[in-house]
Amino acid sequence: MDLEVVTIGTELLLGFTVDTNSAVLGRDLSAIGARIVRRTTVADDPEAIGQAVSQALSRASIVITTGGLGPTRDDVSKRVVADLFGFPLRFDEAIWQDLIARFRRLGRDPAPANRVQAEVPEGATVIPNRWGTAPALWFEGPPGIVIMLPGVPNEMRNLVRHEVVPRLSTRNQAALVVRSRMLRTTSIPESSLAQRIGDLDEKLTPLTLAYLPGLHGVDLRLTAWNLPPEEADRLLDQAAGRLRELLGDFIYGEGETDLAAILLDALRQRGLRLALAESCTGGLVGARVTEIAGSSDVFAGGVVCYDNAVKVALLGVEPGLIEAHGAVSEPVAVAMARGADARLSASAAIGLTGIAGPGGGSEDKPVGTVCFGWVVNDRIEQARYVFLGNRHEVRQRAAQYALHRLWRMV
Ligand code: AMP
Ligand code: MG
Repeated sequence: MDLEVVTIGTELLLGFTVDTNSAVLGRDLSAIGARIVRRTTVADDPEAIGQAVSQALSRASIVITTGGLGPTRDDVSKRVVADLFGFPLRFDEAIWQDLIARFRRLGRDPAPANRVQAEVPEGATVIPNRWGTAPALWFEGPPGIVIMLPGVPNEMRNLVRHEVVPRLSTRNQAALVVRSRMLRTTSIPESSLAQRIGDLDEKLTPLTLAYLPGLHGVDLRLTAWNLPPEEADRLLDQAAGRLRELLGDFIYGEGETDLAAILLDALRQRGLRLALAESCTGGLVGARVTEIAGSSDVFAGGVVCYDNAVKVALLGVEPGLIEAHGAVSEPVAVAMARGADARLSASAAIGLTGIAGPGGGSEDKPVGTVCFGWVVNDRIEQARYVFLGNRHEVRQRAAQYALHRLWRMV
């Protein structure tokens, strides 16, 4: 099953919006054996859209478009594709009433411009959009198949997963699939990972292994190419198991899991309550933790203690300790963690203090130096680590390291 994708939106060409929709389509469709053979991006211009879609239809049996289904004047794609199929647009009262109800639930009324969203091409299948206002449209006729999806990434993703993929799967039962499995590692550089993995890499055939380094660590993506679905899943399970044996708790999760969520689960299971004392990360660790729904039953709170005076006043860090070792030191990081632990009545805590840069480094403590203290009940650990990268990267990496080490302790 060969497909082409046409993403619509002038903002995509200008680079103000990154085309994440194409990436989602690529991943989700290859997983069911539908092959995307080409992608095109066009502006919100009827002529460009018409050309792109009809050219794509001349090559592939199915074309998926995203964008241009909104209520504004620049959203013109529905009309263009309806013309291509010779389908007239008809105002659908039921869709309009649905839209009104949706707006009412939010305490608002739809604008007159929203009425165009209730215009549907007669002959196309309307797929209701439970995540937003513009329905998806499925055109089928002599030109081929065109599936139109709204541009809003969250709506598009849900429509693909819950509506498009199931419909395409039933048409493509004998398919060979491309499936991936991603193992997330952290606190270990790519080169050390490769060393541990050794020649397993070659023994994985017909699977491939990709190293994907990022701010939060190196993701390992296993991919099974053009295999029957059960065979792909079996080989992926097997390979993931072997990687887990080799890498132990450098692997903290799979897929899109966030380390903060994994840590919260571990803390919750052991009945621990978390407190934070953050200097150079300015609340980043707290933000990671509170991004996870349900964090409130585990997370007590945190102190952003940027100024030494705040470390002393709010956390009870001894001024003498700061004088003796400097604010960026393991003893101060530990004192911060213990202070947060005690004053916020927690049972697990992280303290971190460092030099995020670009200025402020010294020979002894270069830019990127971060000192950590961890407390879990009566156990205390400390570390000093130099992170590479700019200010943003140092802060992100320090936060991830702090979460990871606490997870390992717990
Ligand atoms: P539209 O459906 O064209 O009105 O797009 C609605 C929103 O989704 C806009 O903020 C777009 O910038 C965004 N959007 C549209 N297409 C894409 C895409 N291919 N990738 C990521 N975001 C997109
Ligand atoms: Mg648009």
